[in-house]
Order: sequence, then structure tokens, then C-alpha cells
Amino acid sequence: MQAGVLALQGGFEPHVAMLARLGVRAREVRSVEALREVTHLVLPGGESTTLHHLLGLFGMWDELRERHHAGKLALFGTCAGAILLGRGDGERPPRLELLDAVLARNAYGRQVDSFTRELDVLGQPMACTFIRAPRIVSVGPDVRVLARLGDDPVLVEAKGVLAATFHPELGHDPRVHERFLALETAQLSTQTP
Ligand code: GLN
Repeated sequence: MQAGVLALQGGFEPHVAMLARLGVRAREVRSVEALREVTHLVLPGGESTTLHHLLGLFGMWDELRERHHAGKLALFGTCAGAILLGRGDGERPPRLELLDAVLARNAYGRQVDSFTRELDVLGQPMACTFIRAPRIVSVGPDVRVLARLGDDPVLVEAKGVLAATFHPELGHDPRVHERFLALETAQLSTQTP
């Protein structure tokens, strides 16, 4: 198992730090070569159109999709990263379509409307920070909802994919990152190489 954090743009450092707290030394992934060496990749928050552009520019967009489809890459997207993982909604940017969920960008208002709310996450309270967050407007039948803000799913999981519209890497609670590392490893290991 080798964890990595996509480090082209956005808030990748807090993810590296959170994974280090769990004893995992994550690679900062900035090239297709580095992408080929990781089994678990975090797509951080940032700006989803910029991330889409850079992933294409660095030849990583198709590689990422192919490695995931081949069962070689588990993915965890936060905020902009979650937007990219979802299905297309007709708005820019194009999506990776690796998670059966539709996300609408900037659905809770502008940057100044960012907020932290204590939510029930995996059975325990967690302080969840939303920064110009997307809203998960629909999920497919194979997607499990692990946390909600009101009626809206904010943490969802499917085979080999975890996505949060908030930023667990900015809090002090490592349980979401733990779930990413543990569950996805089990799911991947059931697949033949
Ligand atoms: N608003 C950003 C976008 O649409 C996401 C914000 C974030 O990642 N914190 O790409």
C-alpha cells in the first residue's frame, strides 16, 4: 500500500499531515509517474476547474480513471476533489465520473459563507468545516451515505471511493482518513491484480 496526495493545486498539505498522524507517509503526487506508484490517492480541496485543467495538462486525467477502473487506485476526494470524482451535471468542469453522485458547485454560498458545524460522522460528533462547498444533490443505489448536513449527504462511500464535501483534514479527528485507508485497502485486496 502506498498513499499519495495530489499536489498540483489546493489544500494538499493538511492531508499529508493528517495521514502522517496515522503513521502513513504519503507521497505528494505531481506527475503521471508518481501516480502509477500509489494505491490510495487523495484529491484535495482547491478549485475544481483548475484541478481539471492541471490533471489534463500533466497527462493524469485518463491515467487516474484507468487505474481506478483496473482496481489499482482507491480515491478520496474532499470538496473540489469530491466534485471531480462525481458525475457530470452539465456544468464545468468535466468530471471523472468515478462516483455515482451528482455534485453542484458552490451550493452553500460564497467564500464568506464558509462555516463549521458539528455533525454526526460515523456515529460520533465531528467538527466539519465547509468552504465554498458543493452540495451532493443525488447519489446512486450503490453509494452509502456516512454523514449528512440536514438532508444533504456530506460524506459518501462506494467501492474504492470516499468523498466529503467538507474538509476532515482541517479538523483534529482522523477517523475519515482512517476509513479511507482501511476500508479501501480491504476492497482493493479482494480484486485480482
Ligand atoms: N468552490 C470550489 C470549486 O468549486 C471548491 C472549494 C473547495 O475545494 N474548498 O471548485
